[in-house]
Amino acid sequence: MKIAIINANVFNGIDEQLQRNTSLLIEDNVITQIGNVNPVNADKIINAHGQTVMPGLMDAHVHITMSAPFHELDKMTREEIAIRSAKIAEGMLMRGFTTVRDVAGNTLGLKNSIDQGYATGPRILPSQAAISQTCGHSDYRQSQAQQRIGAHEDSPLMKTGAFTVADGRSGVLKAVREQLFMGASQIKIMAGGGASSTFDPLDTLQYTLDEMKAAVEAAADYGTYVAAHIHTADAMRRAAEAGVMSFEHATIMDDDIAKIIKDKGIYVIPSYFTSSLIAERKIPLGDEVLYQKTERVGKAMFKSAELIKKYDIQNVCFGTDCVGTLDVHKTQSNELQAIEKVFDSITALRMVTSNCGRLFEMSTYQHPYQQGKLGVIAEGAYADLLIIDGNPLEGVECVTNSEKQKLIMKDGVVYKNTL
Ligand SMILES: [Zn+2]
Repeated sequence: MKIAIINANVFNGIDEQLQRNTSLLIEDNVITQIGNVNPVNADKIINAHGQTVMPGLMDAHVHITMSAPFHELDKMTREEIAIRSAKIAEGMLMRGFTTVRDVAGNTLGLKNSIDQGYATGPRILPSQAAISQTCGHSDYRQSQAQQRIGAHEDSPLMKTGAFTVADGRSGVLKAVREQLFMGASQIKIMAGGGASSTFDPLDTLQYTLDEMKAAVEAAADYGTYVAAHIHTADAMRRAAEAGVMSFEHATIMDDDIAKIIKDKGIYVIPSYFTSSLIAERKIPLGDEVLYQKTERVGKAMFKSAELIKKYDIQNVCFGTDCVGTLDVHKTQSNELQAIEKVFDSITALRMVTSNCGRLFEMSTYQHPYQQGKLGVIAEGAYADLLIIDGNPLEGVECVTNSEKQKLIMKDGVVYKNTL
């Protein structure tokens, strides 16, 4: 199947200028030609009418299986969680997100179902279970607090493969290898206190240097890398020393760690929209401890953005950390406008396209999509693209407005076309 897209302006995911009045040829699921396409040779012609072709959006921090507060998920069967997850994945694709990285959740089955056409959704790079130390950010046995003395029963949520607990070098090695065996593209660990958990203060350091090195080694032996949930500068210093390459949240930076992040090329995945909502107490958290923690994190994240600018850290990616119901996930695109306010349009656009593509390439042969590049419009890239009524470089609103999002294509297949 050959599809020609004609009369297009192209934002390629990288350049600050549009490539004007050009054409693209898509053969099956790959872009094979940009410019001078003779539409006569195509099976189908899409006339973009001078609108903008850009890469499909990418979200580097999602939790597709977490479609409800944890205490509610704990009561659901695996089937219920799976069906809800499929609906959430479909919503992501229909918002224009063609690839996402899931960073805690048993998503391999959903990923395979989508890839094989049994469900509709974005490409998924699964991390499988996030790995936490005992008494770490995702030691979710706390929902059974009465059992914590003596008993070591997993919570139902842990049994579904969203989280796992491992300690010591050998325990961490095994936990990482278990996730790789389950199809993880990259490994997610919890490397410090969290804002969404009641019992671990933000300033706690989680995992010793040696344990974190064990995680990095086991991942590297499989060609991939470790992403860490992390908030404080001290935790980031330890994780950087261990070789962790993706800092999730990375909220409370100082100059020293910002320099280290820049020098080592570590990726940073902040979430400005969700953080500001939480900091403004617009999302009910129930517990006052959580409000205090998230308020601190929410404010710090904007200060750290200044350090990202000061040290010209380019490896910054779009990540929403949306957790919850369909309604919460509908806010996914709002992050793009939040980023535009903090940085600018081109930075926001690179973060949601080519920067994520680069980050995901660190999975090397664990990357599930090996046929082409992701996050760019280029010859040899996957045909994952949007046609937008407007110039995104002049403001990202047109990218997130579903009426201006005229066409959504993933893997060469059109999922929406209102051109
Ligand atoms: Zn998260």
